[in-house]
Amino acid sequence: MNEKPLFSSMHTHTVFCDGEDDIETMCRTAYEKNLYAIGFSAHAPIEKQLGIKSEWNLKDEKADEYIAEVLSAKKRWHGKLKVFLGYEADYIKGKRTPADSDIISKNLDYVIGSVHFLCPEGTEPFTVDGGKEEFEKGLNEGYGGDALKLMNSYYDAVLEMISTGGFDILGHADIIKKNTYNRNLWPKEKEIARQREVAAAAAGKNFAIEVNTGGINRKKINDIYPSLTFLKIIQKYIIPVIITSDAHCARHINENYDIAIKIIKSANIIEHYLFNGRTDKEPLWISEKINKI
Ligand SMILES: [Zn+2]
Ligand SMILES: [Zn+2]
Repeated sequence: MNEKPLFSSMHTHTVFCDGEDDIETMCRTAYEKNLYAIGFSAHAPIEKQLGIKSEWNLKDEKADEYIAEVLSAKKRWHGKLKVFLGYEADYIKGKRTPADSDIISKNLDYVIGSVHFLCPEGTEPFTVDGGKEEFEKGLNEGYGGDALKLMNSYYDAVLEMISTGGFDILGHADIIKKNTYNRNLWPKEKEIARQREVAAAAAGKNFAIEVNTGGINRKKINDIYPSLTFLKIIQKYIIPVIITSDAHCARHINENYDIAIKIIKSANIIEHYLFNGRTDKEPLWISEKINKI
């Protein structure tokens, strides 16, 4: 066991989707920062499958090139840095799941499963973590302004994604707070009850929940995903956590991990996990004690 715990950066975006830097720059930065591994998690394509335009997802016609470039970086960095090929795949009710056959057929090393879109009946999907305007429009047109209903429908989607499976890391589990932080749109205890359901459903599965500093890195919100209250529930259910930065540029590759560690420790979580590839079916996880810091 190493003296100092190791960290990885498994949630990253590059110029292939909505990131700023290329794959080589991200690998070099991860190597310079002494990370154990870097994983590439381009937003999986959705346009063909959903028939909607998205500025931040990988284009279907770019998917093969993305995969080839990550695999070539994996070879180039062999022996110096572990490089993993992944997708951040959307769960969109009735339309898209991380377990869809086109995603499985890519033979990825890992998949992050995330809910960004809600799809209230009779309306187009909208993102809960996009701009304020889109959020408010979705809230009003999709839920008649009933924020509690929207919150419930977000956690319903997370629960449905867990039961559908197909992912190794649960992405930013409470990203619903991005546009609702400190607005008291619903009773706090109602959300905590839903988070308890998510943790109960996640317990004993072979995926980790990410502790994502991306909101702070991009100055969108002054909190990590999931927040301390949710992490305390996660700790009770003994679910592995993996620290990620949701880096959209190389300089964010392990940005604010110190904040994540501090909050994890406050939740009494004593170790974090590193992804180490997979066997035929199962992801392999390595635990690292964080109380050494
Ligand atoms: Zn995401
Ligand atoms: Zn992301």
